[in-house]
Formats: sequence, C-alpha cells, structure tokens
Amino acid sequence: MGERMECGIWCGPSDAGMSESSVAAFVERAARAGVTALIMEVKGGHGLLRYPSREFAEAVEPGYEGFDMPAHLLRRCREAGIQLHAWFIDYYEGEQGPAYRRHPEWAAADADGRPTCGTTLRGSRYGAVWMCPARRPGYTDQWLVPLIREFAERYEVDAVHHDYIRYPGDLAPDTYCFCDDCLREMPRWAGFVSDAIPDEPFYHELYDRPYLESHWEQSPRVLPPNWDRLPRAMQSRFLLHGGFFQGGLNDLDHFFYSYRTHWVTEFAREVREAVRQVRPQMGFSAAVFKNPIHSGRFIGQDWRTFAPYVEHCMPMDYRDHFPGTFEQYLTLLAEAIGRQKVWARDYRTLWPGFAVNFLYKEEAEAALPQAQWPHEKLRRTVAAIRAAGTGRLCIFCAGQLTAYGMWDTLQEALA
Ligand SMILES: [Zn+2]
Repeated sequence: MGERMECGIWCGPSDAGMSESSVAAFVERAARAGVTALIMEVKGGHGLLRYPSREFAEAVEPGYEGFDMPAHLLRRCREAGIQLHAWFIDYYEGEQGPAYRRHPEWAAADADGRPTCGTTLRGSRYGAVWMCPARRPGYTDQWLVPLIREFAERYEVDAVHHDYIRYPGDLAPDTYCFCDDCLREMPRWAGFVSDAIPDEPFYHELYDRPYLESHWEQSPRVLPPNWDRLPRAMQSRFLLHGGFFQGGLNDLDHFFYSYRTHWVTEFAREVREAVRQVRPQMGFSAAVFKNPIHSGRFIGQDWRTFAPYVEHCMPMDYRDHFPGTFEQYLTLLAEAIGRQKVWARDYRTLWPGFAVNFLYKEEAEAALPQAQWPHEKLRRTVAAIRAAGTGRLCIFCAGQLTAYGMWDTLQEALA
C-alpha cells in the first residue's frame, strides 16, 4: 500500500499546444499529478508528423514546420524528471497521407486487390488505409523504419512507442494481406514451393504412415499445379482455406497467421536495429492488445515475440476490450494482468493501461453530464492495477482527464 507507482499517459499534440508556454504548462500539470512518462503522438493515424522532419518534409502536418514540439517537450520533460516516449501510429495511414498517395501499392489489399479505405464499416466508408507490413521494398523499409530512424537521430527521447503495430482487426481480420507481394512471397516464405525445382510435386515415396499429415517433413509442393493460372481471389482463398496436402486437412490458415505475426515482429526487429545504429541507448515501448495469443491470431500481433526489440510493454486493458459490468471489468482486469506478467516476463517493464472514457460506459449511455461522472471509478481502477503489483500503469489519455476534470483525482489516486 502507498508505494509510488510509475504512471505513463498517452497524449496528443493538442494537449501540448503550439507554443513553448503551453508545452511547459502541460508538462507541469502532468508532473503535479504524479505522471512519470509522457507518451506523445508524433505520427498520427492520418499519416502526418508533428515535428519538422527533413527527410519526410511532405508528411509534416501544417504548423509543425516552424514549431519543434518534441524539442520543447523533451526539454520540459527533462527539467521535470519525466520520461518522454514518442508515439508512432505504425501501420495505419491516411488516404490523403503522402505515403499512400505516392505509393498506393504499399497498402494492404484484400483478395480482390483492394485497399482498406473503400470498405464499409458500420454503414460508413472506412476511409483509413492499412499498410502491408510484409512487402519489401515497401512501406516498412522505405517509409516507416527510415522515418523513425530520422526521429531517433534528432531527438534523444527515452523511447519510441509503437502503436497499431499489427494488421487491421475492426475490418474482417482474415482479409489482409493479399497484395501482389504477399501473393508472390507468402508461398515462398512458407516453403510451399521450391525455387530450385518449382514444378516437381514431390509426392512421398511411401505414404506408409497411417496419417497423411505425418508425411510433411519432405516439404512437398503445396501449391496446386494450376497455381499460375488462378485469379488472385482464388489464390488468396487457397492460401487462407487450402490444405498443405491435397486430400488433407484445410490447415493453410496456420501458415497465413504465422506469416503475419512474422512480419509484424520483423518490423519491430528492423526498426530496433536501425535506431540502434544512430542512438544505441534509446528504448522502445509498445501499446499492445490484452491477450497476445488472441491478437496473434486475429491481427498478427503476438507481442510475446517483441521482447528482444521492445523493453516496455503497455497492454491496452481498456474496459471496452472486456465484456460485462464495471465490477466484472475490475475482476477480469486483475486476471488479465496476472497473465500479462507471464507473457511479458522477457520485457523490462509492464505498464497495464486503461482508458478513462470507457470506464464511463453506463454514464455515457445515460447521457449523464461529464461533470457528474463518478471519480470513484478512476480511483478504483488505479487501485486495482496497483494491487496487481506491476508497480506501473498507463492511462489513455491526457485529453480525457482534462475534459472530465479528473487530473486532481489522478493525483490523489497515485499519491
Ligand atoms: Zn501484402
């Protein structure tokens, strides 16, 4: 009881404002509340940057060419003894963002070759563009990694923070990626065909075991003989629903999901290596989903495998990622953190995260004015994470604390 917790807080450029004095006031407010790490969004989901990048000048959000927000923020954080993590929205881009406009072929594509933006979600056009993590050369190695490397060269922040380090999930999670590169490379990556002897089916000599799948180790040609004649939609369907053996189980989805987790983790590795070359001491943190076994299957994010490349694990244990009542949330949250301690054991630190707004599901549904939302829920959630014993927590987000008038409550809860 009463032990001081480390507290990270996700924040956006509007929290810091566009002047030195507004940045100073924001850092002072956070420090007074007991916040020990600011996680500031520097690359947004629209694909634009909140710092005066030289190598990616076309991606700089208007207003940030002349105001070096991270530099001012970093100076104030150092004075206040607060860590600064630079938050990047990794694979989620804007339709009007320069990466997609210049290179539409870098976008993740469905079986018909279409990017995510034109898809309908909850009755509306989706609009945003998910980029393909696997394609080389592509968004990962031509854009995202050099962009983060340049940032690391310019700003001595404590960590680069990954978010959206994954495939899309709110759209059908099994639909991406079947871009031209993935259709060509997934079968090679998975060893479904030999580069050296591509046309030989390599049937087993004997089939002398009772189980067809027990003849796997000679690596037969998995692709059907008519592969090159199949339209892309049928190739995609085979890669997700086909079988390793003709006449065997429909088990190729295993390789599809493995391919996706491989490339997401590969990005974590590549960017780590690129940053190490320019600033060896810089760390990495990541916002991840609450269960890596589930997110590995659904969005290519098995974050247990990030540990060699990311020191600080920040699971988004938001209430809307759990079912049930507020009381059930607190119970399930404690259970989840117990599992996360095991999954994150190879990370240096674990910061269970909660979102303020989602605590107030009932109040929002009842259209209760925000001024009347019970601060008790915030206090009890902080207490539940404290009781789980990680010594750290993370909160989404600064703007909500301001909007709901809850900074003082956070200060009490952390004290
Ligand atoms: Zn792809």
